[in-house]
Amino acid sequence: MSVLWDVQRKKRFISHDDMTKISQEFNMSRMELEGVVTFYHFYHRTDCGKYTIYINECVISQYSGRNKIVEAFEEAIGVKMGHVTADKMFGLFKSPCIGLSDQEPACLINFQPFTHLTPYKIKDIISQIRNGKKAFEICDTPKSVIQYKPSIDKTVFFKPYVPYATLSFLEKYNPEEIIEKIKKSKLAGRGGAFFPTGLKWQFCHNNKADQKYIICNADEGEPGTFKDRVLLEEHPELLIEGMIFAAYSVGASIGAIYLRAEYRYLKQKLEKLLSKYREDGKLGKEILAKIPFDFDIYIHLGAGAYICGEETALIHSMEGKRGEPSTKEVFPVEKGFNDKPTVVNNVETLCAVPRILEMGVDSWLALGTDKTPGTKLLSVSGDCEKKGIYEIEWGMNMREFINLTGAKDIKMIQFSGPSGELLSEIDFDRNISGEDLQCGGSVMIFDNKRDLLHILKNYSNFFVEESCGICVPCRTGNFLLNKKINKLILGHAEEKDLADIKEWSKIIKTTSRCGLGQSSSNSLNDAMKKFPEIFKQRLSENTDFNKAFNLEKAIEEYDNIINDLSTPYE
Ligand code: SF4
Repeated sequence: MSVLWDVQRKKRFISHDDMTKISQEFNMSRMELEGVVTFYHFYHRTDCGKYTIYINECVISQYSGRNKIVEAFEEAIGVKMGHVTADKMFGLFKSPCIGLSDQEPACLINFQPFTHLTPYKIKDIISQIRNGKKAFEICDTPKSVIQYKPSIDKTVFFKPYVPYATLSFLEKYNPEEIIEKIKKSKLAGRGGAFFPTGLKWQFCHNNKADQKYIICNADEGEPGTFKDRVLLEEHPELLIEGMIFAAYSVGASIGAIYLRAEYRYLKQKLEKLLSKYREDGKLGKEILAKIPFDFDIYIHLGAGAYICGEETALIHSMEGKRGEPSTKEVFPVEKGFNDKPTVVNNVETLCAVPRILEMGVDSWLALGTDKTPGTKLLSVSGDCEKKGIYEIEWGMNMREFINLTGAKDIKMIQFSGPSGELLSEIDFDRNISGEDLQCGGSVMIFDNKRDLLHILKNYSNFFVEESCGICVPCRTGNFLLNKKINKLILGHAEEKDLADIKEWSKIIKTTSRCGLGQSSSNSLNDAMKKFPEIFKQRLSENTDFNKAFNLEKAIEEYDNIINDLSTPYE
């Protein structure tokens, strides 16, 4: 993938000749390479412009004035969305969530962030570029507001941290002792799967192999989430040290940060920090520890595919393949990257590790709930006064949380992203915790002026686009659910369509290979349960849209004639 990125960056697209050369170099068929290149949003087969502009398609962006922003870009550069200017100077493209939901409307230009856009600002950006400015010279530095609740004393992630502060624990404890501490802390995967981290490390530790890997999943792609971006910006040293502890515990010597392409602007800063760790002997050969070990980290850049947030898809992507999830006969801790035992942990999970060791497991356990101790980072966007990152103690009541955000007149909250749970008023007395409302990180708030079906249609478009397509129920089922939503929006649906949605959702959920298919219809079904009146209002009793051609009825008359004609011959 890094070769493809090099070509893409230099030539602005991957040509037929380049494909031939790359496929020969890597001893793969042209067809296979074609499959890889076309899988990812950010590889282009035709020139995508010297300045490539990507605009967020997520519903949050749409409600922040995305259409006006598109018009302003179209006017400023003189081509419509999806096109490149005749002089190949600018290309304008859509993109799924770019991780700036608290700063929308926003865009990426040559993967540099531009936030809080207005038509005037866009005119100015384009004019500066035309006058020779580079995107990185005029881009914004996304700064999220961080709220600590209930109080700053209970902050785990965002309090000041002195780099290397906890690495002394490497000299104090052996790998098994670190694993025991993480197991005792009940830390669980913060990307949304909530698999116990200590147990994952234990499994990998137990597998004997000549090579093991630690991969940090920095591919948060769930629409509305941006917490990992803020951690990477504010506390990258926590991540690096979390990876060092993971490597020491399981016996890995190579680590990789799978960085989503939308966060490419963070790569240089991360690389600089990794160099510093190397210079100071904290990465590289013979790292000081009770049992000295070798470990280094490199950065692998994704190329735009939501599904690569799934760990087996991510591993395939790192191996230069299409990011398709595998069936789970064998887990990555046994056979992962390059068929070697591999631990894949999310950014927030790894950042929690040095903090837990620093504060002590008991202090960590004193926070949160029994099942989910500690604090949780939530990315809040949508219709509320205070968008940004919230660090809350697990167990917080939903109503209390809503008050913090200053949201009023709420219709619904999309909790844990479009694949999570759609909450209405009846859910607001529930608690945010592993025992009740789990959340990977995305919290999107919608007030009563929003159209529920428009929101659901946006989610559905996303899943249709992002399904890797390998299993039929997910590939076809999501497409068909999308058509059902269209029918509802157009007022052509009837009761049977609602029954179909329920039945087909069950099939998609139970027969799809990975979490995308298993969760893609969650919001639609939650909405049908919680807002039945909205769906009822859209049904039409008097439409002939659904009246299929009735063959029997149509030929009945002719049957009679034929019967009459045949009588004399009987
Ligand atoms: Fe791909 Fe969807 Fe199947 Fe997952 S459920 S493997 S995304 S087709």
